Amino acid sequence: MEVLYCDVCKKAVENPIPTRTFFHYADIEVCEPCRDDLNLAVKYTVRGKKPFDYSWFNELELKILREGVQRGKINIAAKR
Ligand SMILES: [Zn+2]
Repeated sequence: MEVLYCDVCKKAVENPIPTRTFFHYADIEVCEPCRDDLNLAVKYTVRGKKPFDYSWFNELELKILREGVQRGKINIAAKR
């Protein structure tokens, strides 16, 4: 059985399926719940930031991820 560990929450993902239950961002690997949190965090941050551009979008995504790796969870700014 193959097991991978999420870089953010450190949980094990058994028999990971890339792009379905496990996701790669640069050198960071994340599980599905953390990916969902990341998407939410990015979505809230992207609001009001115009014009949309993939160059800053990718940077933003990685910045949120790297913070998430340090904290052990993705911080969703707008969630209170
Ligand atoms: Zn995770």
